[in-house]
Amino acid sequence: MKFIADGMLGKLTRWLRMLGQDVKYSNQSEDAELIAMAKKEHRILLTRDLELYQHAVAKGIDGFYVEGRTEAEKLAELAERFDFSLTIDLRRSRCPRCNTKIRLTPKEKLADKVEKNTFTYYDEFWKCPKCGHIYWQGAHWKGILATLEEAKKNQKFVA
Ligand SMILES: [Zn+2]
Repeated sequence: MKFIADGMLGKLTRWLRMLGQDVKYSNQSEDAELIAMAKKEHRILLTRDLELYQHAVAKGIDGFYVEGRTEAEKLAELAERFDFSLTIDLRRSRCPRCNTKIRLTPKEKLADKVEKNTFTYYDEFWKCPKCGHIYWQGAHWKGILATLEEAKKNQKFVA
């Protein structure tokens, strides 16, 4: 299962990638390009644009019209529809920036790449082999978990 998201769904794209979903995203693609890429790469088109959604479906593309107002609501809708877990497992996560699978990286290798305090305080670091961005479960992690908990609650109310 692979997705392609329209330009309005940048934030949702980053969430989905963290959850391990393969999501292509470009905020510079025209509707016709999105449809063409979805077709060529067998990706499910995620969009907040009803017209684009209808257009895609008419062309035989698998699409999903995203309606939720908050990220938690959007994630709940998608998890319900496509049956995936709303729990982050970093071993399956993709880089929120570039969609490449991140890799657990020995701490020693990153001594000069992260701030000293961060390096001292955390033990597990993940690196994107493509863009080089480094991830760890830092102070923002609590917020991430809170959003996912909210999403899981929302999920129960989706028909
Ligand atoms: Zn990356």
